Amino acid sequence: FDFETATVLPTIYERTTAAALAHDAVNLGQGFPDREGPDWLLAAAAEAITDPQVGPPNQYAPGLGLPVLREAVAEDHRRRYDVTLDPAEQVMITTGATEGITAAILAFAEPGSEVLTFEPHYDSYGACTALAGAELKGVPLRAPDFRPDVDALEAAVTDRTSLILINTPHNPTGTVFSPEELRRVVDIARRHGLRIMCDEVYEHLVFDDAAHRHRTILSVPGAQEVAVAVGSAGKSFSLTGWKVGWITGSTELLNKVRGVKQFLSFSSGPAYQWAIAQGLRDDHGFFAANAAALAAGRDLLREGLREAGLRPNRAEAGYFVVADIAEVTELSGPQFCEVLTREVGVAAIPVAALTIQHRASTDDELQRLVRFAFCKEPRTIEEAMRRLRERL
Ligand code: PMP
Ligand code: GLN
Repeated sequence: FDFETATVLPTIYERTTAAALAHDAVNLGQGFPDREGPDWLLAAAAEAITDPQVGPPNQYAPGLGLPVLREAVAEDHRRRYDVTLDPAEQVMITTGATEGITAAILAFAEPGSEVLTFEPHYDSYGACTALAGAELKGVPLRAPDFRPDVDALEAAVTDRTSLILINTPHNPTGTVFSPEELRRVVDIARRHGLRIMCDEVYEHLVFDDAAHRHRTILSVPGAQEVAVAVGSAGKSFSLTGWKVGWITGSTELLNKVRGVKQFLSFSSGPAYQWAIAQGLRDDHGFFAANAAALAAGRDLLREGLREAGLRPNRAEAGYFVVADIAEVTELSGPQFCEVLTREVGVAAIPVAALTIQHRASTDDELQRLVRFAFCKEPRTIEEAMRRLRERL
């Protein structure tokens, strides 16, 4: 937002989707699936709208969220991570993970302080840190494997630092932090008196060996004194439009987040919450089938990108691969994405747009990286790869 002219620059995701539509390009930019979530969950939401048990299904839900969904989130944490949460105080339902992220940043980033994150990073971290009157500082994740450099993170801590934002599994690199990496981040926060917001929206979308590695940060001993974690039903069930998420953590930290959240959306649609509670209790095999479908999409995309001369990363989770374009073009990532949309008919996102102040120096490694989404039907990915082969 530009305060001088009172104009809004839409997010990189919206701009990319608009450009894809304008140029009839296959949209591998914005991360949303082009197949709906499971039919039984759609039916559950449709029924919930007229089901008095949801009570009442079309009026404000409680600010913390429907008890049935808070219990289902706590139960999922117990089963998946062996983490015990009190659903009455340690789980709060949010309007998408986006609201949980916003409320946590506004609650914990002191005005005038510094907030640390690994970059590239999800775009709302920068905007919300600015809204809190704080400054976002980045520690780069380096190609080819994009592992977090925890020593570099600690070296970036100053006496002004208030909060660390981490994202695992990570958008856009797909990196899944190891339990040891998480433990070390928690240790840094504890020693320096910092808080952590851990964005775990891709927790149900983890592939290959990484499937056993992902843990919520709350499972690290001592983490609950410093960290809150954020999840997303939209990501977990391929229903991004429903905008249901959650934030978990100790009673004390969650109370601080709640103080902000109650003045953002206050609450979100009860019928969707009711349906998601049913999905979390019994996913009917959806999580495993969806992860397998996503991994197959990733393989198809990586193969096509390699054939076109790009160098995609391995991507062990989430919706995206990042590819190095240096061998096929002299253009920077942002320039390449423009040409790709307009002339090749494939839309993608320059990783530079997911860095602090959209860093522009051309020697920056992040400048040569482009993000492609694989949360799409095989025929969508095949069509995009056919265009790359024929037109790039
Ligand atoms: N965090 C990350 C890393 C994301 O990629 C996204 C969007 N997919 C979100 C948060 C926002 O999640 P939601 O749609 O549930 O608000
Ligand atoms: N999370 C999605 C992405 O990374 C987009 C979300 C949005 O458009 N705000 O592409």
